Amino acid sequence: MDLIPPALSPLIAVPPQAAAKPSLTGATRADLGQALSSIGVPQNEIRMRTAQLWHWIYYRGTQSFDDMANVSKVLRAKLADHFSLTRPEVVAEQVSADGTRKWLMRFAPHDGESGKGAEVECVYIPESDRGTLCVSSQVGCTLTCSFCHTGTQKLVRNLSTQEIVAQLVVARDRIGDFPGLTAPTNGLMPAEGSRFISNIVFMGMGEPLYNFDHVRDAIAVLSDGDGLSLSKRRITVSTAGVVPQMAPLGSEAGAMLAISLHAVRDDLRDTLVPLNKKYPLGVLLDACKTYPGASNARRITFEYVMLKGINDTPAEARELVRLLKGIPAKINLIPFNPWPGSPYECSDWDRINKFSDIVFNAGYASPVRTPRGRDILAACGQLKSETEKLRVRARLASD
Ligand code: SAH
Repeated sequence: MDLIPPALSPLIAVPPQAAAKPSLTGATRADLGQALSSIGVPQNEIRMRTAQLWHWIYYRGTQSFDDMANVSKVLRAKLADHFSLTRPEVVAEQVSADGTRKWLMRFAPHDGESGKGAEVECVYIPESDRGTLCVSSQVGCTLTCSFCHTGTQKLVRNLSTQEIVAQLVVARDRIGDFPGLTAPTNGLMPAEGSRFISNIVFMGMGEPLYNFDHVRDAIAVLSDGDGLSLSKRRITVSTAGVVPQMAPLGSEAGAMLAISLHAVRDDLRDTLVPLNKKYPLGVLLDACKTYPGASNARRITFEYVMLKGINDTPAEARELVRLLKGIPAKINLIPFNPWPGSPYECSDWDRINKFSDIVFNAGYASPVRTPRGRDILAACGQLKSETEKLRVRARLASD
């Protein structure tokens, strides 16, 4: 289903001369400081000017330097001469029958990139008590998990910090989630002082821990209390199990952790998540036991995709419970989302319920993730963009 409400039709492409100026949307505080220095702002003013820009860019969602009322006219003009506040272009927007929205975002080409610029998908999932934005960390993926659609697209490149942050800025633009914006929201308004987007999950395209530095720096911008203000307890990074980067994620980014487990035996996990050959279950679960900041109040989420006849027996549910002993965990059962040509089927509902009961009776929260946005291929593991490899040098996988 592909419903595009008229008022939310794709953005008009920016004129090329504006696009050519580097955009400050998505910039870190250090980037803004550098940008201000580069246009001659004296060192003793940088902090104050950075704070002003930060407020306009991230608190207000401002799209023009002209609106920055407390910045002098001269500086506003200088900023506009050298920089822009251009967002990634939304090349397609799809709205599911259940309200899930999927945006295909195109980034300005990086130096040396030919063609139209890399594209990723980003998904907004509204629920009664929260709104979740699922962001991408890479264009494509290197992991080739056998049940994941993104895994069939080769890695093109890592996203920059700026490109990761810009996904939230664009989403807020599109759903009217910045103060003063009045984009149509189907009559829904968030409660006073709250936002449509309350949670971020790094569960879109790519393996976030193969792009660690940019993901960490993006989390700092997303959670900055003077700007976008997402709580770190509501930012979850999902990994297939890049063990060496897990402790740094906890200590340097302070984000919540989710592990794509999917199997309780190494031989099966080797085929579903080939990264298991490098970091097998024992090593992965040991790293979970020592994840900085994990506690009963801050549990690690274990994702388990339900694949018919592959990993869904009651014995496997019991083994899962045994394996997670001693880890503050919650278990998220994900009904498999099919995609064109996928080699698996979703387990039957009674199988999923039985599995969930065993896990629940062992004392774990075991919500079954309701598939959202399946009709627009926006559900877990269905994301893919057409971007093909742009140049070999841009491959930044750390594997
Ligand atoms: N690379 C990261 C994040 C991206 S995938 C990771 O592996 O965790 C986000 C979640 O969706 C992962 O748990 C992934 O295993 C799951 N997933 C992938 N394909 C799926 C599919 N077709 N159906 C259901 N879940 C899927």
